[in-house]
Amino acid sequence: MLLLYNSLTRRKQIFKPIKGKTVAIYSCGPTVYDYAHIGNFRSYIAWDLLVRYLKYLGRKTAVVKNITDVGHFTNDDEDRGEDKFDKAARREKKNPLDIAKFYSRIFVKEEKKLNILPPDFRPCATKEIKTMQKIIKGLLKKGYAYNAKDGVYFDISRFKNYGRLSGNTLKEILSGARVKINPNKKHPADFSLWKKLVGKNRRHALHWPSPWGEGFPGWHIECSAMALRYLGKNIDIHTGGQDNKFPHHESEIAQSEAYTGKPFSQFWLHTGLMDVDGKKMSKTLQNFYTLQNIVDKGFNPLAFRFWVLSSHYRSPLNFTWRGLGEAADNWMKIVEFIRDNKFVNKIDKIYAAQKEKQFISALDDDLNTPKAVALLLQAIKDANKNAKKMPTAAYLIKKWDRVLGILPAKIEKPKKLVIPAKVKKLLAERQKARENKNFLLADKLRKKIKKLGFLIADKLNGNYQIKKKQSPET
Ligand SMILES: [Zn+2]
Repeated sequence: MLLLYNSLTRRKQIFKPIKGKTVAIYSCGPTVYDYAHIGNFRSYIAWDLLVRYLKYLGRKTAVVKNITDVGHFTNDDEDRGEDKFDKAARREKKNPLDIAKFYSRIFVKEEKKLNILPPDFRPCATKEIKTMQKIIKGLLKKGYAYNAKDGVYFDISRFKNYGRLSGNTLKEILSGARVKINPNKKHPADFSLWKKLVGKNRRHALHWPSPWGEGFPGWHIECSAMALRYLGKNIDIHTGGQDNKFPHHESEIAQSEAYTGKPFSQFWLHTGLMDVDGKKMSKTLQNFYTLQNIVDKGFNPLAFRFWVLSSHYRSPLNFTWRGLGEAADNWMKIVEFIRDNKFVNKIDKIYAAQKEKQFISALDDDLNTPKAVALLLQAIKDANKNAKKMPTAAYLIKKWDRVLGILPAKIEKPKKLVIPAKVKKLLAERQKARENKNFLLADKLRKKIKKLGFLIADKLNGNYQIKKKQSPET
């Protein structure tokens, strides 16, 4: 029985799809004005795991992950900010559509490197203007929206449940001390559905005709429109990052439910925030990392995926190079185990069934991937202690990889290890220390060797194995 933590009700609930077997999922996709950062990918890895697990349980899934290519303002502040695409177009001296095309192509490639399954639909906001306008017309007709001088706004005071997801009450929001920056709005927290080409938006690069004048859509309406068009009025799961909850998801709920009169999504799932070295990721702090930065440091993207899955999706995550390095070494252990074990022997069915049960119960509990990962590492440990368990462990890891997605499609044979003379000398000294039972010295030398980029695994018979560290020492 799958339990998922629903942000809307603030508790774990049994998950059952609304209609038959197919699970309709909407994932807020990237705003493709720049490279995605590793915090973005943390979310997309979590939602990929969700989809893979539903499939593992025998469910069909219909997944929409949109591309936002217009209307997303800097700092999510539409009164003061500007469209991220206008800013990027200036920075790169290109037109906004070329910017979007360039970064969305890279995003799709990077998702592939992270073993993230492609969604069933990947609509672009700029191609869905018609659906957005249809919803805006409906909202105006029903009195949930008003047509002002500079745009069409959603009137939040008309939607009684506004604030339910984020935990803000409508009363609090309406009495909020936010300064009224835009005199055209009835209330500062009203959000735009359609922006007209007036005032600071008069030079907006992309615009379309509409019954309310030439203009472009607000960010929130994009997701409501694409969810409605590709998945229908009621969806099963809506996902996003913690920082999307307010105002983005709150506004999506308001628009969608005001328009259709039906509950929008039965489950809302959010990933926790991600810091880097204990600080908020930002370009000014120069701790803003992309997947390419990780690859440039010598890490495999799938080692990053493994690092992400080693924590629960809802917990806050702190990225450090050291943490990633440790995860990468564990990840390498798994890859090597699969590479070196051709499992033709008999599987221990009782052991396999017992482990499988534990794996399912871990993931059934709100996708507890740290537990699932621990089970996988334990299976390798068991196999290393008892060779008879090897084929079963390899069988389980391959099976579980349908959910975890951490194994590369092709596992390459190891390159011949070249050991520098300096390391060779230290290795000889260490063997001698071990023979003399000077384990303190042996351990010191092991650490020295590790600093030079090599890991040692001691065998019971006094021999040892040496391999190159996956991650560079940082
Ligand atoms: Zn969205």
